[in-house]
Amino acid sequence: MRGGAEVDLRGFIGRPRELQGLSVEFEVARALSQSPGETLLFTDIPGYAFPVVGNVITGREAVCRALGTDRDGYIRHVLRCYENPLEPVVVERAPCQEERCRLSDLPVLRHFERDGGRYITAGVVIARDEEHGFNASIHRLMVRDDGRLGIRVVPRHLHEYFRRAEEDGRDLEVAIAIGMHPAVFYAAAYSAPLGYSELSLAGALLGRPLEVARCGKVDLLVPARAEFVIEGRMLANERAPEGPFADVTGTYDHVRDEPVIEVLRITHRKRALYQALLPGSVEHRLFMGMPREPGIYRAVSEVAEVSNVCLSDGGCNWLHGVVALRKGRWRIEQVIERAFAYHRSMKHLVVVDEDIDIHDPLALEYAIATRFQADRDAYVYRDAVGSTLDPSGGEDGRTTKVGIDATIPPGRESRYEPARIP
Ligand code: MN
Repeated sequence: MRGGAEVDLRGFIGRPRELQGLSVEFEVARALSQSPGETLLFTDIPGYAFPVVGNVITGREAVCRALGTDRDGYIRHVLRCYENPLEPVVVERAPCQEERCRLSDLPVLRHFERDGGRYITAGVVIARDEEHGFNASIHRLMVRDDGRLGIRVVPRHLHEYFRRAEEDGRDLEVAIAIGMHPAVFYAAAYSAPLGYSELSLAGALLGRPLEVARCGKVDLLVPARAEFVIEGRMLANERAPEGPFADVTGTYDHVRDEPVIEVLRITHRKRALYQALLPGSVEHRLFMGMPREPGIYRAVSEVAEVSNVCLSDGGCNWLHGVVALRKGRWRIEQVIERAFAYHRSMKHLVVVDEDIDIHDPLALEYAIATRFQADRDAYVYRDAVGSTLDPSGGEDGRTTKVGIDATIPPGRESRYEPARIP
């Protein structure tokens, strides 16, 4: 079991390189984008007392380390945790409630030139619904003024909670936790079904129940070791323009009318660290994509024996999938359709044999070059539901998907035999 210091953000980052005096206006964002492989601590930020930490996750290995696994064991480890969730435990004295501050005290970054404002990007939004229980999910939060945040809510679980509250004419209470151990952040990014609490998955991933604290102004539980907690409510029947915002593809998402959160109070740890997550960075992409991979693995495993799954780096860890299959007579069309059905933002999927290292783009290209014939092995799905973040698709996310069967056809292996030097 991991000790207390190993289950919070400060315990995970150790002693990162420190940069002093950079501004929240673009300068911190620029430094983060220039050193994606390095966790950075920003101190003496003009106008702010709190330091900023960024690039907490520097690559796939760092995510695996946070989850207590490695690259090869990753998917099976997460699925085991998913099947054995651990309920959180309530603690009475929580580090996250030691002190109070205002929204304008947070060193929130402005990232990109045309962004519509300064954005909180590492906030885990916790809400509760009478029927479905706790939900934790990650949303970008635009600072509107000292008391209000804009929140982008895609039609998933929080959207459903808010819809139900609004239908009853109620605001929806929310608590936004910023700055936690990456395993907790990963859990919040995981696409569990409605009613499955991401906080319980966090416990399983940490190897011990997540400690949570009761909020003061809302009836919710939050991770006790979070650096900051914003308590507030999503206002019923209120919308305001949100965006533009440069997202995971490095291009701008457009302006929409989105819900508004009224801030009720903010608490924080002593000497709190504000966590920033640079949109489009390695860290952002991996936190989007990696939590999707175990679910794709599970979905495809219903129709074939899967060796490995990834959402590849070149596809923003979001739009491009790769599935490696063990030898067998699988219906590849079913494999493709299961994967697309589970991860609807996926636009292109390549199915390969297990001898191909799916994390190696050259190996993947080799498989397409030598094992694929477009007239026989391509599966095209027109006018499908995809990601609104792909600038080549429609604004409503309509897109054309392609599944590529780059596996060796059963019975023809001899033609594909790799030449060996004796
Ligand atoms: Mn959920």
